[in-house]
Amino acid sequence: MRKKINIAIDGYSSCGKSTIAKAVAKALYYFYVDTGAMYRAITLFALQNNCIKKDQTIDEPLLIRLLDHVVVSFKYNTDSGEQEIYLNGVNVEREIRSIQVSNHVSLISAVREVRVKLVRLQKRLAESKGVVMDGRDIGTVVMPDADLKIFMMADADVRSKRRYDELIAAGLDVSLEEIKSNITNRDLIDTTREMDPLRQAEDAVVVDNSNLTIDEQFEFVMAQAVKRIEQ
Ligand code: C5P
Repeated sequence: MRKKINIAIDGYSSCGKSTIAKAVAKALYYFYVDTGAMYRAITLFALQNNCIKKDQTIDEPLLIRLLDHVVVSFKYNTDSGEQEIYLNGVNVEREIRSIQVSNHVSLISAVREVRVKLVRLQKRLAESKGVVMDGRDIGTVVMPDADLKIFMMADADVRSKRRYDELIAAGLDVSLEEIKSNITNRDLIDTTREMDPLRQAEDAVVVDNSNLTIDEQFEFVMAQAVKRIEQ
């Protein structure tokens, strides 16, 4: 049987990590874990449970108290062929992509207790190998021993336009300006937070995909993965 490896894909907001991670996981018959969706699910929970105050700051003591009652899980959707995220047993795959969640997720992700809870779960998911996981701290914190680490980046304007097109196609009412401001704001919070900030792992392979097609990125990452599998 072929050796199974773990693949970590990190990078800035909206640079296409999940598109490539999903495609690679499918091609290798691996388990795909969208860690951003997990932080988004907790953000949705925080919004639903009054953990975000009127001045948009977080009621951390309340959130931390309620965290034990939050169960985040994935279930495979046989129709779409994709993993979907559940919050306390409810499918929230669509709700977590709203601009309201996007606007609060980086602040929620900076809360230590939130990270401890999710990183623990993510490490458990990676134990059996054969995992493609994307996020911000996968190669540095969650899977520091990953066999392949990819660090993705792309020009902020390119990323904003891609995310805008994606959300419009999904039927959401958004403007390009608010998307760009959300992306740059999240990058700033994600790279400067105290706990597990977004940074490139020393042994990561950098992919700047500003001028690459999805097929080109896929081929590149697959070639890197196959090299590690055959080593
Ligand atoms: O990947 P996505 O854009 O959906 O992630 C949403 C947010 O979740 C990020 O902007 C970041 O604040 C947070 N995140 C994180 N660590 C991860 C994955 C996501 O802090 N591993």
